[in-house]
Amino acid sequence: MIANPIPWPNGARCACAITLDVDADSLIHVARPQDSYNRLYPITMGRYGPTVAVPRILETYRRLGLKQSFFMPAWTMENYPAAVEAILKDGHEIGHHGYIHEDPAEIGPDLQRERFERALRTHVAMTGRKPRGYRAPLYNATQATLELLIEHGFSYDSSLMADDIPYLMQTQKGKLYEMPPHWGADDWPPFAHYAEIGYMMPVQSPSAGLAASFEEFEAQYEAGGFWMGIWHPFLTGRLARWRVVERWLEDVLANRKVWFATLEQIAAHVDALVNAGTYQVRVERLPYFTQPVVP
Ligand SMILES: [Zn+2]
Repeated sequence: MIANPIPWPNGARCACAITLDVDADSLIHVARPQDSYNRLYPITMGRYGPTVAVPRILETYRRLGLKQSFFMPAWTMENYPAAVEAILKDGHEIGHHGYIHEDPAEIGPDLQRERFERALRTHVAMTGRKPRGYRAPLYNATQATLELLIEHGFSYDSSLMADDIPYLMQTQKGKLYEMPPHWGADDWPPFAHYAEIGYMMPVQSPSAGLAASFEEFEAQYEAGGFWMGIWHPFLTGRLARWRVVERWLEDVLANRKVWFATLEQIAAHVDALVNAGTYQVRVERLPYFTQPVVP
């Protein structure tokens, strides 16, 4: 059970979002800055995302009438403008995902602000507005990250894991919704195989790898919750895996009461309920800690 299920529009039983992190080859450049430019295998594995997988994914969404959320490092947006244009043309959301997939927990607050705001300028230049949502590279949001989001008027983060369904984070600087991800519906563990950045995962078959995400959906559907896939075009947008996703989507859309929407729309829906006083959102107060915990 879920203690405080959110009433969804049109009697839907579960809000659903496939979120796709279009990292492309930012991952290898940030991991191996000295020689990434000459490592053609990981560059091509990443380039497949915006060039081959994103058009395939967009075609599915057009056919099924879905509007969904993408997260892109700004460097990826600058290097793959056709993917940005195609995503926007179809009315999808592009959220902030760092400048070049730098890890917020590793770079310190000053460099984090510099990279974060540089990425914001790219979003404004290429999409015409500041994004409303953010996902931290590696989910590694810090207290400084949340404060940057609040300062720049973001409505939600999608990196943290304190609940099954959207909740509110209250800090001394303001508030922000959390659209919580979890590794259970992330495609990295079943599909990523990337020795250069320290992952040697046993690659699963398309149906076995995606089964984890779909079981997460079944539990959320039963409880009247919120299901979100956290996937990557260069992993799940591959031909055989996306074929499994397409068939699953066709089945779910035909046979279940679901509301597929962008995270921006889902956060706005929750916020409208909260403002109308018709829903009591669970609140997490931050910071959790302000100094090292172990003495
Ligand atoms: Zn990423």
